[in-house]
Amino acid sequence: MTGVNDVSARRQDPVALLRAAGARCTCSGECGRTHHTIDAGRCSRTTDLIAAPRDLTVTSPTAACEAELTVWCRRCHKSAVSKAMPIPSIPETDSLF
Ligand SMILES: [Zn+2]
Ligand SMILES: [Zn+2]
Repeated sequence: MTGVNDVSARRQDPVALLRAAGARCTCSGECGRTHHTIDAGRCSRTTDLIAAPRDLTVTSPTAACEAELTVWCRRCHKSAVSKAMPIPSIPETDSLF
């Protein structure tokens, strides 16, 4: 009776993630690059992979622990994050008043 199948749904095992993703980047165009069109809409990179939140606006480590992770290659992740994040605003005082 050691029901230790899954300690928590929150802490996701990177290896399991990787396996589920077929050890490939799961980016399907979020990064804005076009290489995805040649491989069933998915990035074909199998190297330089990282586990990172699917929700690219999640940046704090705490939030990332709770977020749903997925597999990215670094290149896609970097581009996707910079696309998803609003450019940290240059403090323009334009329309405050
Ligand atoms: Zn990509
Ligand atoms: Zn990729």
